[in-house]
Amino acid sequence: MGNGTDSGRNGGSLFAIKRRGVWFYVFFVLALGLVCLNGFMARRFGNTVFKLGDFAIPLSGLSGCIQSVSVVFCFLLVLTDYKRGIKLALFVLAFSFFGTIRSIMLSHSAASLPGVVNCIIHGVAAILIYRQFRISDMRATTDVVTGLTNRYGFERMLDKMIRARERGYVSYVHVEGFHEVNASAGRKIGDRVIYEVGRRMEESVGRNGIVFKIEGSEFGMILHEKTGYREIVDDVIVGLARPVEISNGEVNMSFFLSAYAGIAEFIDKNVTAEDVMQRADVAMNYAVNTEGIRVCTYNEALRDQVARVAEVEKLIKEGLENNYFYLQYQPQYVLDGKKLRGFEALVRMRLPDGSIVSPGEFIPVAENSDLIVDIDRYVRHRAMREFKNICRKMDDDFTLSVNVSAKEISQPGFADEVMAMIRDVGFPPGNLEIEITEYSFAKSVDMTIENVNVLRDNGIKIAVDDFGTGYTSLAQLLNLPVTLLKIDKSLIDNIESSEMNRDFVKTVIYMGHLMNCEVISEGVEEEKQLALLDEYDCDFVQGFVWGRPLEYATALDLCV
Ligand code: C2E
Ligand code: MG
Ligand code: MG
Repeated sequence: MGNGTDSGRNGGSLFAIKRRGVWFYVFFVLALGLVCLNGFMARRFGNTVFKLGDFAIPLSGLSGCIQSVSVVFCFLLVLTDYKRGIKLALFVLAFSFFGTIRSIMLSHSAASLPGVVNCIIHGVAAILIYRQFRISDMRATTDVVTGLTNRYGFERMLDKMIRARERGYVSYVHVEGFHEVNASAGRKIGDRVIYEVGRRMEESVGRNGIVFKIEGSEFGMILHEKTGYREIVDDVIVGLARPVEISNGEVNMSFFLSAYAGIAEFIDKNVTAEDVMQRADVAMNYAVNTEGIRVCTYNEALRDQVARVAEVEKLIKEGLENNYFYLQYQPQYVLDGKKLRGFEALVRMRLPDGSIVSPGEFIPVAENSDLIVDIDRYVRHRAMREFKNICRKMDDDFTLSVNVSAKEISQPGFADEVMAMIRDVGFPPGNLEIEITEYSFAKSVDMTIENVNVLRDNGIKIAVDDFGTGYTSLAQLLNLPVTLLKIDKSLIDNIESSEMNRDFVKTVIYMGHLMNCEVISEGVEEEKQLALLDEYDCDFVQGFVWGRPLEYATALDLCV
């Protein structure tokens, strides 16, 4: 592998490189030609003195001029391409040096002595220029904090390797947690943590490849073709999961980071450096955004998936402008007596050709962009408008539930925006319930709690959706001003067959009541499940057993 400082594609277009290459050889030929001319003249004319009118021009004076012009070409060689140029320039100067010595010896005259001194001085000057170029090149390709080769050097090396038909793997590594380190311990400590990350990565990679600092919280690796690349990348991820211990003399601090990696191969000879980097980036982003995946290798399925995500994202944008979205309402019932409690508004997407894109597909795409915020705003507005009269008629006996993404509930000002919409629509706040997932509390606890508090103070109910699938700790839950726990379908599914699930559901219901919450089970499909939930004192149910999501008009018929 190269050393990351070789000249490559950064010199500009192919045409520019070729043109520069031509000039390089022209300078070399001129520099060497002039030195040869000097030698020829010394041998042919000896110590002749030429006459130009009244002026006498000794040959040594003419040679001095020719030598100076040759030196200019030597410098141009170094300036054009400092790595190859220095070698050729020193060759020409050495040739000139020995030629001049030879002529001094043969003529037994020291008239050409200044020429010898000139060769030495110009040789030293050329080396100094070369060194300066090398230092600034190193600086331009080295990351100051980690000392690793930076993105610029990485791109140059990858490009050079691909052009040389070398094969291997590129991996991008995204490290999470630097922001928190900087915020809690300051940038100096942050820099030490970043340095340690680079060091650990180099330790894991060893002689199997090279580690780079790409930018911000991203690192890169180029791994040799014959390495067990997947094991190395796994090692890197495991190495970065160990806490980073930093001492500032008085206090020892531990920082916890997590890392995600994407891998792309450069084995196909038609691939470009740009393609490989983009693929590694796509794979890395997939790992970052997909739960349970730390390392992802780029393949055709991923390419298709990424293309589909881009297409769905485009459809969502189009849909928001051209009304592809509409709502269905799934009834919720009081378990004891099957009285209607209200509806959960569920968004749907219908394309102009009549085909349906399922929420299971477009909601995650919208959540990964900011489009979910617009979708949720649309759903809230439309659902409240459609049900405000029902609420007035049914008074406290009706609840309209809307889903809110983790992204929104953790935004400053979210609660105020909801209140403004409620006033605008004229919807009674006591009839509105906002469903947030447990994941919301993993995002930004303080802001989420602040928003939830404002909403609660205004009489809005708060439900924790998909409860039991993950993130909320019991301690956190006890501090939340929530009014309803929605037990996730996955727990209800096995309630008959698994005793552990049964116990868990029973405990959640009991715990919910202790917290002064009501409890609803969602995804209830069987009568037997209903019977068990009734036995455990579950308050409400939502599920196909008593009602699928309905069109607005059908939902209205239930509200009598
Ligand atoms: P969710 O909020 O947990 O909604 C319940 C999902 O379970 C709905 O799927 C509903 O149709 C489905 N479901 C209810 N009962 C049953 C049952 O008995 N059996 C089965 N198999 N499924 C049942 P849907 O409509 O496909 O929505 C999926 C998810 O999409 C929702 O899960 C929610 O997380 C999200 N979503 C839907 N509408 C919105 C929205 O307006 N905003 C946001 N942020 N997310 C939404
Ligand atoms: Mg929901
Ligand atoms: Mg749910």
